[in-house]
Amino acid sequence: MIRIGVLGAAGRMGQAIIAEIAGLPSLYLAGAADRAGHPKVGTAVGQGLTICANASAIAHGTNVLIDFTNPAALEANLDAACTHKCAIVIGTTGLEPQHHALIDSAARSIAVLQAANTSLGVTLLAALVEQASARLGAGWDIEIAELHHRHKIDAPSGTALMLGAAAAHGRGVALGDVAVSGRDGVSAARRDGEIGFASLRGGTAAGDHYVLFAGDGERLELSHRAENREIFARGAVRAAAWISGRAAGRYTMREVLHL
Ligand code: NAD
Repeated sequence: MIRIGVLGAAGRMGQAIIAEIAGLPSLYLAGAADRAGHPKVGTAVGQGLTICANASAIAHGTNVLIDFTNPAALEANLDAACTHKCAIVIGTTGLEPQHHALIDSAARSIAVLQAANTSLGVTLLAALVEQASARLGAGWDIEIAELHHRHKIDAPSGTALMLGAAAAHGRGVALGDVAVSGRDGVSAARRDGEIGFASLRGGTAAGDHYVLFAGDGERLELSHRAENREIFARGAVRAAAWISGRAAGRYTMREVLHL
């Protein structure tokens, strides 16, 4: 039985992850935490468990933590996992370079899997984008568009950036050197080699991603539409089961899916 602790347990993803764990006999919800002051702290989440406000308390005695919270919570969540030697799956998006440095540091002592998108379809899409980018070459312009629900606070989405990184990797360049977000203004003509991003926000969309390869006289379009957030919860829980007991290191969803 794999013991799982959920961070961000009162949130939309936390709730979906708890529901997913409940349907799997090989997994056990051993702890649930959210931020201090959240109105749901102290309320029940099934199996006699209540949501607490202490990541370290739930890390104790769990095999894997699943973190879908906020970038500001990452350091404390990694500390909790390192202190109690449990693995951690990080789905929180909006991570900056300093957060990735913290993850790299933690991955020297525990197993860490960070994924801006834990769905099977998007994981495969990223592999296809990388391949298309490598095969089509620099003459094809790459643009990435994404649509998310009205509550999403970071843009471009973590998934769009992950797809951009896959495209850049396929071309052997660093995304930071070629990424462009928004094209407002009068001196916004496209430069060769750019990877452009556009973000739309509205309604209840769980997440649409569209990657355009625009060549001379032809276009290739690769896209994915998430119909609900259960797909991310399913992937995150699958990743948690996969990473349990693994050696220290930084892992990706592609490894979970043997891609
Ligand atoms: P949400 O706002 O519904 O839930 C986030 C929860 O985290 C809230 O309950 C909040 O109180 C809690 N939280 C904030 N700070 C905390 C802290 N310091 N300690 C503990 N809990 C804390 O948001 P959501 O839609 O559930 O998304 C959460 C994160 O997951 C976002 O970054 C989102 O972009 C990301 N996300 C990732 C994927 C993926 O596939 N990787 C999919 C969907 C969402």
